[in-house]
Amino acid sequence: MNEGDPALVDQAMAGWTPGQIKCRANQRHSWKSHTVTVHQSRGGSHYEIIERCPDCFSRRWRLMSMAGYWLTKWKTDRYSEGYLLPKGSGGLSEVNRADLRLSDVASRRIRYVNDDEE
Ligand SMILES: [Zn+2]
Repeated sequence: MNEGDPALVDQAMAGWTPGQIKCRANQRHSWKSHTVTVHQSRGGSHYEIIERCPDCFSRRWRLMSMAGYWLTKWKTDRYSEGYLLPKGSGGLSEVNRADLRLSDVASRRIRYVNDDEE
């Protein structure tokens, strides 16, 4: 899987925002409700549910029947600029993931305690 060009990964990672790094480090988005649209048609109406990630601004959508049943799976259709890795990068390595976690942690408020003292 990691037979691509690591320089492409480094290049992409260098451009990521703290929010994009957070999502990449956690390997998931913090999806939040965004909009709900009712599509009305003579053939039948349905809901379009849209959620956005407040950290990296990716967007996903899903269709739901008027009775509340899912009609589709979630589909992420928008990623923020530079979020996706370029083709041929080979994906993130474990070393890349460790770097992302350290960057994410460094962006938070850190409290230091000495576990040797009472
Ligand atoms: Zn995200």
